[in-house]
Amino acid sequence: MSEPNQSDKMHTSSMRCGTCGRAFYLDETNSPPFCSERCKLVDLRRWIDEEITLPHEGGPDEGQISDSISENL
Ligand SMILES: [Zn+2]
Repeated sequence: MSEPNQSDKMHTSSMRCGTCGRAFYLDETNSPPFCSERCKLVDLRRWIDEEITLPHEGGPDEGQISDSISENL
């Protein structure tokens, strides 16, 4: 016999949380693609911390853009 619960879960997308690595279903979370609001905030904070700690000298795109602008002026 097939269990209705299992076929139900086939409809939801199975995902793995990028923060805690837990496998979960999209139906189980209010904060996709993370398993919980807390994991979403943890990941967001990680990004913000990286932005702050990153040295800003490594921006080739920005440098090229400002270079061509000053050349055109
Ligand atoms: Zn998580």
